[in-house]
Amino acid sequence: KNKVFLHRFLNRFSDLLNTNFREELVLKKIEESVRFVLVGTTHPGNIGASARAMKNMGIRKMELVSPKDFPNEKAFYRAKSASDILEEATIYPDLGTSVSEAKLVIGTSARNRKVPWPKVSPKEAAQEIVKLCSQGEENIAVVFGREDRGLTNKELGFCNLHVHIPATDEYASLNLSQAVQILAYEIRLCGLKFQGSYERQEWDVPLAKNAEIERLISHFDEVMQEVGFYEVDNPRQLLTRTRRFFRRSKIDHLEANIFRGIFAAIQKKLKK
Ligand code: SAH
Repeated sequence: KNKVFLHRFLNRFSDLLNTNFREELVLKKIEESVRFVLVGTTHPGNIGASARAMKNMGIRKMELVSPKDFPNEKAFYRAKSASDILEEATIYPDLGTSVSEAKLVIGTSARNRKVPWPKVSPKEAAQEIVKLCSQGEENIAVVFGREDRGLTNKELGFCNLHVHIPATDEYASLNLSQAVQILAYEIRLCGLKFQGSYERQEWDVPLAKNAEIERLISHFDEVMQEVGFYEVDNPRQLLTRTRRFFRRSKIDHLEANIFRGIFAAIQKKLKK
């Protein structure tokens, strides 16, 4: 009887240890893999406040796409003890370059678009992110827009998902750093609650990188023009819709290559 009890106790104990261990791994993985990209930020204070919001929640990588005024002491003033995040922040000329290696790009926007992008809540976005992290993916970007105009349609076109924070219709647009806070918090919550096993990779081939999909989209556009599918002067929303199709499909590296091969074969035949 005592033996059974001891056995149960040891099992329970190792379960507890295991859960903590996995949790810690996922939180570490989130820290290494997830970066927040701020596009065209006008006010340096918002960059600083965003850095603080991130660090509070264990997200350390910040990228700035052509910030208006950075570095600036106002950013450091608002960052308080998160100035290391600002010091390590990398600056890019455009969003395409910043997310070119990413496996998952999540855009945040208060606005609905004419051609809607697959929309998720902050919590659902966090679940996607943590799931990928737990499978060992290394490169995940969450993108935030300008204070005055948000993200352009072109920039949203690099994203796989659109996160909308369900604010009121009357005033749906949050301060940039507060939107950053909400996303960072949901990712943290999800990481803390994560119970699944820590798997390297559930798919047989790694996901395609953002830039690979971008090349696939341009190649597809080329072929569609060559076969005369688009009225080239008047593609209306067709290009956006085909782009959305490629962006929302979780295309892996091999699939991307197969389709590039198919497109090349079509082009070769057309030229004969
Ligand atoms: N009028 C702008 C609002 C920009 S607010 C617009 O057209 O989108 C600055 C940034 O904060 C946005 O680009 C977005 O990244 C984030 N943000 C603000 N409110 C949000 C909301 N309700 N849902 C998702 N992101 C939001």
